[in-house]
Amino acid sequence: MKVYNTLSGEKEEFLPQGDEVKMYVCGVTPYDHCHFGHAMSYIAFDVIRRYLRFRGYKVKYVQNITDIDDKIIDRAGKLGISPRELAEKYTNGYFEDMDALNIERADIYPKATEEIPKIIEVIQALVAKGYAYPVEGSVYFRVRNVANYGKLAHRSLESMRAAEGAMGSEEKEDAMDFALWKASKPGEPWWESPWGQGRPGWHIECSAMSLKYLGDTLDIHGGGQDLIFPHHENEIAQSESFTGKKPFVKYWLHNGLVQLGEDKMSKSRGNLITIKQALEKYSPDAIRIFVLSSHYRSPLKYSEEGLEAAERGAERIARVVSRDDPTGGVGEAINAEPYQKQFIEAMDDDFNTPQALAALFNLASAINQAADSGISFQDAKEVLLSLRAILGLRRRDVYIEAPTATATASGLTPTVVTEAQPPEATTIMRLVEERNRLRKAKKWQEADKIRAKLAKMGVTLEDTPESTIIRRWKRKR
Ligand SMILES: [Zn+2]
Repeated sequence: MKVYNTLSGEKEEFLPQGDEVKMYVCGVTPYDHCHFGHAMSYIAFDVIRRYLRFRGYKVKYVQNITDIDDKIIDRAGKLGISPRELAEKYTNGYFEDMDALNIERADIYPKATEEIPKIIEVIQALVAKGYAYPVEGSVYFRVRNVANYGKLAHRSLESMRAAEGAMGSEEKEDAMDFALWKASKPGEPWWESPWGQGRPGWHIECSAMSLKYLGDTLDIHGGGQDLIFPHHENEIAQSESFTGKKPFVKYWLHNGLVQLGEDKMSKSRGNLITIKQALEKYSPDAIRIFVLSSHYRSPLKYSEEGLEAAERGAERIARVVSRDDPTGGVGEAINAEPYQKQFIEAMDDDFNTPQALAALFNLASAINQAADSGISFQDAKEVLLSLRAILGLRRRDVYIEAPTATATASGLTPTVVTEAQPPEATTIMRLVEERNRLRKAKKWQEADKIRAKLAKMGVTLEDTPESTIIRRWKRKR
């Protein structure tokens, strides 16, 4: 298995330290709704994690939550609520989005505000070793004491100094030095520290949390390409100076960024599409297929046409999944092995999901052909189910049954949700999935609200142990 490592700039054989892969991915700063860029990044690392498990590794996955930050303080101030309240609201929103997209939860979600003792411990050690210095209640990292600072970004300290411009301040020894601890300003949240009341800088949080939960050396550290510099460069400087061990991370994996038109989709440009907006129009499987149809390191152009095509692809796979093998597995059968091999070869090559998806779609077509010609496809369908689970796809298509006699007698006629009405079918499926999720969580009242909402759309539900049968009727005009 080969993975592209940003540190070396090359594809390398993947050799983790042990059977358990230690994986850390930078998490959100919860000050607003998550946008499509978050969907891309967390879907990419979700699939990487699922594939590693398929390959026989155990994976310990840690993702932090930066629940204290300038952006949180600013926005909370504007809204007149506490930073804590704001962070909680959008942390919950983040989990809703991730669950809806079928992104598996990390094993641990450390929050910056709950890890202050560890953060202070690391900063104190860095000061003691001469890698950091306190000034006026703040503490800065002394960049020039680190040999090879810039090795991840592949830039020299001189060129970075020039490119970053004069970020110097009277407090700092060097314009490139960065804050590990920030003295609190009036009205800001603060914690006690050896340097006075203050709060941690962003970079040190990830170093402290990864050290605490995954140890001195990580196998995989992930994040968007926009985090390479300065965030990840600074994480390396902090962690390696603290532990004295190199490398801090064996494989640095960075996903490409989402573009809208020619621009990067970003809050500062005001061209965001939130995950919630996307989910109003497209099914979770369609969003995943759209993201995975581009390689994770490439930029992804957000496009409605692309998402609509992905929706049709999601329907195609779901329809195959809903087909039953009438042969009972007897007689001639189709062989799924070549497709599975193609899938694995693609994923072994730096997680080439576009090619893996192609293998999955080819297998789906082969199964359809087999089904049409009465050839057994039961085993092939099992392979399809296991491959689509690696990509986190789980959609089951709308299942329409003939109307019952009572319904017909009451003046209702049946209508079938077909490809001619994909947006509506998608909405129905999304609501049914959401209701099933709520029922699993024993949130009966909320689940019933969705049932009522569907009833207004002319949809009734019948729960069986295996599935939910959806019936839909349309009133006679
Ligand atoms: Zn981070």
